[in-house]
Amino acid sequence: MESYIQISKINDFIFCPRSVYLHTIYDNFHKKSYQRTPQIAGTIAHESIDTGAYSSRKRYLMGKEVYSDELSLCGKIDIYDLQTKTLIERKRKVVKIYDGYKYQLYAQMACMREMGFEIETLKIHSLSDNKSYILDMPNEEEWQKFIDIVERVNNFSVAEAKILADSKKCAQCIYQPLCHPL
Ligand code: SF4
Repeated sequence: MESYIQISKINDFIFCPRSVYLHTIYDNFHKKSYQRTPQIAGTIAHESIDTGAYSSRKRYLMGKEVYSDELSLCGKIDIYDLQTKTLIERKRKVVKIYDGYKYQLYAQMACMREMGFEIETLKIHSLSDNKSYILDMPNEEEWQKFIDIVERVNNFSVAEAKILADSKKCAQCIYQPLCHPL
């Protein structure tokens, strides 16, 4: 059976390949058993989308499951505005547009396009300060970087799952309690 990469793992992989390994192992655990406070707040922010309760307006698609056979990707979008053809990903607090955020939206876009939707705008919305950031559409070079990352996640092996030698990064990692003592 063909396996699909969860879109959320791309972000994890960019942060630290070992976190993909932990993500996979603990996928079946109840999240409260390991999530740290900021992560739980992020989950609560997304609960309204996952349950489809955020808005009943027909203009928006929310929490839609998407997939790409071409890239072997699957996941859920946050919001798609049918009127403006905008893909929107909400984050609890955005301090910087990380590559992981961009690639998450590129992955969603690739899936949506393969499923027949037009995408004209990519937007990240920071909930805590109500700011929105419009992303440039990827040029050829940027798109190739994204494809390379997807391939690396696809070919990822446990042998790559080393502990990072960056304790600052580890201190911010949601998987740290599962990974190693600081
Ligand atoms: S705690 Fe550090 S080594 Fe472990 S998954 Fe997180 S970033 Fe990677």
